[in-house]
Amino acid sequence: MVIITYLYVGIDDTDSPDGMCTTYLACHIIRKLKENGISLVDYPRLIRLNPFARFKTRGNGGVAFKIFNDDKADLAKQIILDEVSALSMFDCDNTNPGVVFYDGEITEKMKEYAFRAIYEFITIDEAEKFGKSVGCELHKFKKGRGIIGSIAAISLPLEDFTYELLAYRIPENYGTKRLIDYDSVIEMDKKTFPDTFENVDYSESYIAIEPKTPCPVLYGIRSNNVESLDIARETVKVNEPIEDYCIFLTNQHTDMHIQKADNICEMKQFGCYEVIGTVKDSPHVIDGGHMFFTVFDESGEIECGAYEPTKDFRKTVSHFREGDVLRLYGGIGEQNTFNIEKFQVIKLNDIEYRNPVCECGKTMTSAGKNKGFKCKRCGSRISSSQKVNFKIERLLNEGQFYETPVSARRHLSKPICRM
Ligand code: ATP
Repeated sequence: MVIITYLYVGIDDTDSPDGMCTTYLACHIIRKLKENGISLVDYPRLIRLNPFARFKTRGNGGVAFKIFNDDKADLAKQIILDEVSALSMFDCDNTNPGVVFYDGEITEKMKEYAFRAIYEFITIDEAEKFGKSVGCELHKFKKGRGIIGSIAAISLPLEDFTYELLAYRIPENYGTKRLIDYDSVIEMDKKTFPDTFENVDYSESYIAIEPKTPCPVLYGIRSNNVESLDIARETVKVNEPIEDYCIFLTNQHTDMHIQKADNICEMKQFGCYEVIGTVKDSPHVIDGGHMFFTVFDESGEIECGAYEPTKDFRKTVSHFREGDVLRLYGGIGEQNTFNIEKFQVIKLNDIEYRNPVCECGKTMTSAGKNKGFKCKRCGSRISSSQKVNFKIERLLNEGQFYETPVSARRHLSKPICRM
């Protein structure tokens, strides 16, 4: 009997803000492996890790893939290490690549480590100790920080997942304006949404599939299945050569970064949570256009923020009233503010206390402290100082989810169309 074993490969931290992209390097390596008769088992994985990690270039993503652990495995390792050595952006202080090989089963301990890499901070030393303890073969370039994400990218279980189709430019065009036919992107979105999503931000007239950085990516299309990516690829027209395409299996848009908090006090800085809270005060805007409000529960309170880049989401937030009960999703950043990504309205406070209306139809005014109300028009008086409950119209709906626009959304945030 032949027992099939796999060689898992993790690669991270090869790029810099000026160029390269670990997914591109992976795509390039996959092509080289193919040329040498080595094929991948399943799709390569693009795994997003802790959004607050300090040394991330952009979206804190690590890449992993799996091949058969056969007589070509050593050749594969050599190709991978050579390509990472040749193409990583070593000149950048913050580029510290790490490559990890692993040929065992993915254990519970490794899965736990991967979730820690999404929820917490891990040091290079910790990752190295852990990797060695489970039998990983670790390759550190410079400081080798990439091993932190590489081990996680190999180990993370994916119960919920999405795909991303990445199209790569030819090197001569790096840094130049991307020649994407925007009308064809809209057509693709109309044809394939909601199987594909995050293609266009209609509120901001912004084509979200196009990166803003000078990296090798021409465009990236995110989806729930591979079939819709085939249609998308055929529909999007570009006026420049495409060097290659690669489809990654990802944890993007799964809310994997969100931990359920039982109460507000349980939440810690640099963590991302789902929590239920009651609005304490009306939202207010500060310089720079950021909007803040406070929520509380029996354990304490926290200031929440909807920042300027979230654009119209702030308008939605401005409708909160004291007493509204919300299920909030977001992360606690540098300023210890709970930065809201989306929310669900649980209960709206639609009661306002107003002065009573007189029989003659005029709203009454106070007759003095504890002296009830009087009508200025007909002179009628009421002795009770009790204000009257009025049901008011609210622009938000109970049960409904509201989210930040595509342009301000985290890679890991689950959009409402996937909820
Ligand atoms: P890109 O998205 O363009 O690939 P990036 O934003 O993923 O870039 P990297 O260049 O990969 O950024 O750098 C992120 C670094 O942070 C990597 O070295 C990775 O190993 C490390 N890292 C990932 N998760 C954690 C974590 N939880 N704690 C500490 N370091 C982490």
